Amino acid sequence: MEDIGRIVQDIHDKIHADADWGIPAQYISELAGVASDQFAISVVTADGRCWSAGRSRQPFSIQSISKVFALIATLGRIGEQLWTRVGREPTRTAFDSIMLLESDGGRPPNPFVNAGAIVTTDALLSGREPSQALAEILGLIREMAETDEIYINDRVAESERRTGERNKAIAHYLASHGNLSNEPDLTLGTYFHQCAIEMTTEQLAMSGRALAGLDGVPRTISALHAKRANALMLTCGHYDASGEFAFQVGLPGKSGVGGGILLIAPRTASIAIWSPGLNGYGNSHAGTRAAAMLAKATGWSVF
Ligand code: GLN
Repeated sequence: MEDIGRIVQDIHDKIHADADWGIPAQYISELAGVASDQFAISVVTADGRCWSAGRSRQPFSIQSISKVFALIATLGRIGEQLWTRVGREPTRTAFDSIMLLESDGGRPPNPFVNAGAIVTTDALLSGREPSQALAEILGLIREMAETDEIYINDRVAESERRTGERNKAIAHYLASHGNLSNEPDLTLGTYFHQCAIEMTTEQLAMSGRALAGLDGVPRTISALHAKRANALMLTCGHYDASGEFAFQVGLPGKSGVGGGILLIAPRTASIAIWSPGLNGYGNSHAGTRAAAMLAKATGWSVF
């Protein structure tokens, strides 16, 4: 396992030598100005050790990675009922596409595209205040990561609320099909705050241990929910680049427009990678390459 320390350092050095960073998310003003030449990787192995390289203690905006935790919290609350409102099929459309909502009568294709995540958060919110739903998501993440030092960045949430016209359109379109049970603005506010949770790669890798089913990890989520989340991460976690990610990396992963990737090697390791520059699919450009390098160097794969 000492090898992992060397492997992550080599990946870090290669990523910096290549200096091929992509462009940070431009549509969220608080993220648009983040320096793109940053990289971090953390790997927690089955023996409980954490191997890191780069800026692994720098908090970043987890954005859509929060959808994994929101999904688990919602399944914990309403169970399989969620699937009456959202499907579980991959798409060939972008993460913020509205297209399939029209053909499928307002039922989003999966919980990781924005429309599906907004429905999931809406289900978690029902019958209570946004602060309670957010406390549940944050509480779950803190429990899984075994630290309380994880917070929401209100400035990021506010900047997305100001410019998030696409998500507003999606929420109102869902409402027009009767697939939102709260006021669109209330659900959106909760969703924007959930996306604005900040974590370091060390914390994110720690939080993924329960998804990886590593030995000796506190049982924070059920085996069934871990299986569901991993299946969706593999098939839908990188949106319309999910097939390519599975092809190149071969592990369930979830990206966010903050440049993070949570990667799961079942029963072997939990991995977090961050580099804020994005590719054309809205996934981390250097982070995606780093994930492929790690899979190649370790031989980790679900196949
Ligand atoms: N908050 C972002 C949005 O809704 C999350 C998208 C992402 O990370 N892919 O657009």
